[in-house]
Formats: sequence, structure tokens, C-alpha cells
Amino acid sequence: VADYSIGVDLGGTNLRAAAVTREGKILEQVSVSTDVKLGREKVINDLVSAVDQVRRDQHTRPTGIGVGVPGFIDMDRGVITGAANMPGFEDFSVRDDLSTRLGVPIVLENDANAAALGEKWMGAGRGVDDLVLLTLGTGVGGGIIHRGEVLHGFLGMAGELGHVTVVPNGYPCGCGNRGCLEKHASATAVESMANLMGLGEDLSAKHVFDLASQGNARARQVFESMGTSLGTALAAFINIFNFPLYLLAGGVVEAWNLFAPAMLAEIEQRSFTYRVSKTSVEKAALGKDAGLYGAAYLPFLKHTR
Ligand SMILES: [Zn+2]
Repeated sequence: VADYSIGVDLGGTNLRAAAVTREGKILEQVSVSTDVKLGREKVINDLVSAVDQVRRDQHTRPTGIGVGVPGFIDMDRGVITGAANMPGFEDFSVRDDLSTRLGVPIVLENDANAAALGEKWMGAGRGVDDLVLLTLGTGVGGGIIHRGEVLHGFLGMAGELGHVTVVPNGYPCGCGNRGCLEKHASATAVESMANLMGLGEDLSAKHVFDLASQGNARARQVFESMGTSLGTALAAFINIFNFPLYLLAGGVVEAWNLFAPAMLAEIEQRSFTYRVSKTSVEKAALGKDAGLYGAAYLPFLKHTR
């Protein structure tokens, strides 16, 4: 009888659940469309039925259920805070409610933190205990793994690396700051920079990538600018943490060859720590499975709250 847990990755429009053994083997998985905007009851019912599906054929109870959610988590209270995009979840005891409905301990985690943990467990971070993951998507998510576990800070909000300042008077961000990393190095940032450089309106990041690949000078500049911003942030993270590994995930990482030279040059110039200690900056390995693996790993960790 396998010792297993269940990981749930709750995205904005999609919910995935998997039963995973302690060795990282997926026993069963499902993916269902849901919409967090439709409210708590619907989302929780979808989640409960997905979990029931993946454990239906197992003969024992799972060790626990880890749930990655797109929001800040108050780890002590087991609630999602600042859940503006998730009606009904604000100040609702989602951890305790799920635990009661499913009869198993629940561990909540921020989705980017879960992805970082997944990469540490089964992806590009196997073999190291300390790493930083940046997910470059609509925004930039961050996760910090220290001594094999998520670094939470006192409330659970550490690792919001997309909101560190890379350009003091840069583009305004929804968080209230200007010049956040995510405004200068996400897929959305690529699109808005391309627009500002006159490449065209409503260009997708993929389109800008295609133009750059064909040699378009302004499109190439967009990715160089993204690389410089990433390098500025990564140099700071390397100086703070002196970790051996920094991983980049998300679709826009396909453009690695276009932004990495500028990124690495910026890190080299800005970080003494990087110049003197062996530090890798690499692509993450698990793609969209990272969050699912990370969520499943949470119940196996000893110190989860
Ligand atoms: Zn911000």
C-alpha cells in the first residue's frame, strides 16, 4: 500500500489534483476547469470532487492534502488574504473548512512557493536545499526554498520577488509601487514594452519573440531590457542569499537565448558574490507540473503548520 499525498493546484481558470507517492510518482491525476471568480462554493465543490476522484482507487487515506492557491496565505490562520480575485475567500477559514469536508489535514501554500518546492523535490532543484524560483507569466511570482522548505516570513508573505524595485521610477504596478520586476520582466511587460517601442499594439509576447528571432532590432531590445531587469533583481537576490541555484519558469523563458546574455552580464557586474561563488541561473524543469508536485510534497514535510 503506497504512502501518498494529494496535491491540488488551484489556478484562476483551472484546477488540477494528483495523488502522488512519497517517491514522487503520480498515481492518479485530474484537471478540471473552474473559475475562481464564480465564488467560493463552486470552487470548493470542484476542489472536493477533484480530490475524491484522485483518491477513489487508493486503499488508504492520504497523508495529507496540499493546496497551492493564487494569493497570499496567512499561514497561522489558514486563510487566503488579499484575495481580491477570489470572491468569498477573504477571511474565510478555507484550510479548516476543507479539512472538515475531506477528513484529512490540509496545508495551504501560495502557488509560486509551491512551484519552487516542486522544483526542489522533483525538478531542476533536486539535490540542492536552497534555491529561488521566479515564475515569469502575466506577473512575476517568486518562491524561496531554504533548507528544503519554503521561507515564509512571519506571516507567510515572504518571496514576493515580483514586487522588488528594479527601476526606481519605472512603470506603475498594481501593488502601489513603481518599477517592480514584474512590470519589466514578465510576459505582460514584454507586450507593453513592445507597444511602447512602436512594434504594434496587442502583440503577444510570443509574437514579439518571433519578431526578435527573425532579427527585428527593436524586438531584440525588448528582451535585452527584460534581461537587464532580471539581472538587476537576481544580483540582489544572490547578494542576499548566496544560494547555489536560481530558477526561471514560465512561457517567456522560451526566449532564454534572447534575454539571458543581458541578464548574466548584469548579474556579473552587480554581484561580487556571483563572481566569487559558484552560482547557477537556469531554466526550471517541471513546467506547469511544478505547482502540483510542490503542493503534493507539502504534507510530507515535517514542519508544516
Ligand atoms: Zn508591484
